[in-house]
Amino acid sequence: MTRIPDEMRPQAARTLFRHFGVVLAPADPGWTYAIARENMAAFETHASELIAQVTAHDERRPPIYVDHIVDTAFNALACPWQNSLLILPTGVCWAWFASTFNSLLSMPEVWPDVGDCGVETPPAFTASGIDPVHAHLAGLKLPLLDPVDPLRRRVADALCTQAFEFLVLHELGHIRNGHLSAVPGKNGLAELTPVGAWEAASLTRQTLEMDADSHAVVHTLRNAFILSMEVARLAPTLNAAEPDHALLLAMYGSHGRTLRTCLTVYYVLFRLLSPAAWTADTLWSRSHPPAMLRLLMMLGVIDGKARLTPDPAIAALSGERLASIVGRLAVELELGLCRVFGIDSDPLAVLEPSLRALGAYQHQLLVEWARLHPALDKAKLGGKLAPPQV
Ligand SMILES: [Zn+2]
Repeated sequence: MTRIPDEMRPQAARTLFRHFGVVLAPADPGWTYAIARENMAAFETHASELIAQVTAHDERRPPIYVDHIVDTAFNALACPWQNSLLILPTGVCWAWFASTFNSLLSMPEVWPDVGDCGVETPPAFTASGIDPVHAHLAGLKLPLLDPVDPLRRRVADALCTQAFEFLVLHELGHIRNGHLSAVPGKNGLAELTPVGAWEAASLTRQTLEMDADSHAVVHTLRNAFILSMEVARLAPTLNAAEPDHALLLAMYGSHGRTLRTCLTVYYVLFRLLSPAAWTADTLWSRSHPPAMLRLLMMLGVIDGKARLTPDPAIAALSGERLASIVGRLAVELELGLCRVFGIDSDPLAVLEPSLRALGAYQHQLLVEWARLHPALDKAKLGGKLAPPQV
């Protein structure tokens, strides 16, 4: 059971509206996003298992409900309520994720070794004049392309679920790592780009976002590599003509494919939820790090985790090898995203400013993280704060 129980909903709805101005979705919201409906239903059970698994050994385990709020300026919200904690993505996230991953997999250039790309016939690209660096993808018209190849369609659905898993694990990171009490005022964290009146100073806030991203990356990577080791063990019995087996092989059929699955989710999610561009004036006016800086900081977490694993095949995916995999995949995904959103593409212009700024920016966050650590450490429910894990 992950949804807020029926008997508690009216009161929860009143509190959420009063404190955050958000509307809790009805118990059966009858979503208008047909593209997302099936994914959402399947995810409910999954989210409940995921939270139980991640929090199994926590010192404190309050009930955690995952529910939906109707569309607002937020992407998601994490907040305490009575004796429980709430993770509340907006319904529109499902529409963004489902339409973006389906549209991307309908491009033969994206994940070209999966399924039969020859049957995909994406529309001809016409330059729109929208510059990819400043475009905020989630603010653009949703692309609504569907892969023709059935395996590519299933991969798109599975990536959509993985993106939602990341979102829930990010919110769970805010909760488990003690972030909610670190934000003065409203005692809750809303995921949105401009810093709201109740937000903590943006350096503090962006540091907490890095910590929550690390939490989500550590757990998604761990689960993905457990799956790829299981697929390797079962390999002699798997039959690529079986749709379920073909899906597993496409996404987790080798450690390299598993890493690609995770990186694709991180790249698309960060790119969708915040613009790539910033200036010295705008950087600290936002709640979240800019998209590419979020991705690049997480490469440090991935690299650290890969190096620590006893499996030499996973350890080999670190350092320069990781950098080269990410570089190639980022160009492939960036070109795909620009095509499906109808914007001009320039992958280097998107990546280069972040590569130049990464060292100094990350240093600021790590200094702030060290300052916050004593308070976070006392408030945490059982999570591991990020930088020591890197
Ligand atoms: Zn967050």
